Amino acid sequence: MLPLTPRIGPVTQSLLDEGDLLKQLVNGLGSPVNVVLPQALHANVAAFRAVHRRHRLGGRVHFAHKANRSAALLRELAATDAGVDVASLGELQHALGAGFAPGRIMATGPKDRAYLWLAARAGVTVNADSAAELAELAALVAAHDLPRVRIMVRLSGFETTGVRVMSRRSRFGVPFAGFDAVLDLIQKHERELELAGIAYHLDTMALTEKAVALEGCLAALERCRTRGLRPWTLDAGGGFGLGYLADEGEWERYTSELAQAVLGNRPPMTWNGYGYGLRAESGTLRGSLALYPAYRKVFGADYLDALLGTGTPALGSLLLDHMYDLDIEPGRALLDDCGLVVARVLEVRDDGDDTLVRLGLNARDVGLEEHGVLMDPILIRRNDFHFGPVGVYLLGNLCLESDLITRRKVHLPARPAPGDLLAFVNAAGYFMDLTATTALHQPLGRKVAAFRSGGSWQWSLDEQYWPIHPPSEPP
Ligand SMILES: *Cc1c(COP(=O)(O)O)cnc(C)c1O
Repeated sequence: MLPLTPRIGPVTQSLLDEGDLLKQLVNGLGSPVNVVLPQALHANVAAFRAVHRRHRLGGRVHFAHKANRSAALLRELAATDAGVDVASLGELQHALGAGFAPGRIMATGPKDRAYLWLAARAGVTVNADSAAELAELAALVAAHDLPRVRIMVRLSGFETTGVRVMSRRSRFGVPFAGFDAVLDLIQKHERELELAGIAYHLDTMALTEKAVALEGCLAALERCRTRGLRPWTLDAGGGFGLGYLADEGEWERYTSELAQAVLGNRPPMTWNGYGYGLRAESGTLRGSLALYPAYRKVFGADYLDALLGTGTPALGSLLLDHMYDLDIEPGRALLDDCGLVVARVLEVRDDGDDTLVRLGLNARDVGLEEHGVLMDPILIRRNDFHFGPVGVYLLGNLCLESDLITRRKVHLPARPAPGDLLAFVNAAGYFMDLTATTALHQPLGRKVAAFRSGGSWQWSLDEQYWPIHPPSEPP
């Protein structure tokens, strides 16, 4: 048995201990149900704020909205001192409607004219991706007589002298080499554009790569100053990561056994011997593991702390010396402990040596496989029969060969039975609604907010939730 036990946060655990509520939700709303836990956000925001304080830095924590569409999560965040990073016109409208004043909103992502116009009209900060976007924004501001817009310039393609650090290609951001031309443009449009700062966002876990980018942004800020511009903040983007697994040993055992299975030295651990990027070539292991490092020692706010402590002098103290603010845009990390996807077991059958469990949801409803995150679901039993641990394959509800919730054989503490529930924990960041579709007319999972109020767990439809239930009492 090769379990991958999920790390369960205190709010999620408290809800799981209240198992009846989840059963009622699935019975009443159908399978799957997406449960968000807005009250868990407070601890996550506070952890990032504590890092700012420890390094004596100003600046804001912006939630990267794209990680979850939930209204409840956004409204709860509006009740904290966090800001929000929106990546589309719809997300911008959603943030304004959730109670974020424009000064707390950062507009990132690919932008069309309507998105640029609303951002400028409302007075949010526009985090620009390219020179063309800035030119279009300046023209809009001039043509419609809009107030001067605060902008950030997102940079990419950082280089370092000394040891070569791999910086992967990004479709976003102004290449470092083209930075001066962008500054020319900003200075030409001084009436329309006010440069607030320099930004990066790297979708990587490599601390060195991020440190190089942060250094590059510091150099870029200095360049702005020598040209007479007065930006005051550095936006280090998101990508602080999340640890999904409870046990490092389980993760190491799993990945090394997976390699053995690919080499044919042990029975397969995956559907059709899938290798997650590994393959055998005449008895030798090739390729590389294309999986999220689901066990992580350092993630979230601790990762930011480690980044700011990198280098001599440390990057955090360089920011402080220059009196720059530090803005960040965590998505996944801010949603730790903030939600789960719950599905009903529809059928359990044996197929040779394997046990197949068909569920009332599909691989797009819970995007674990899509994001390369391996972890076991939690079994919520209807009754207490116990047959001992089993490894099972989880099949989805689509009439497609490929619709496995995960190609990994998952580990459950007992053989499930139809009517039991499986809960996929820590699913709020990216696994809940980013890929969900109504393919084959299967229903989208209903989304509900579960929260503690008056000493008990309560719930509401996601869109009905506002953070005003008295008395506010996080679990
Ligand atoms: C996706 C994204 C983020 C959030 O990334 P996480 O890995 O979820 O922290 C932040 N900023 C930008 C510009 C993004 O595109």
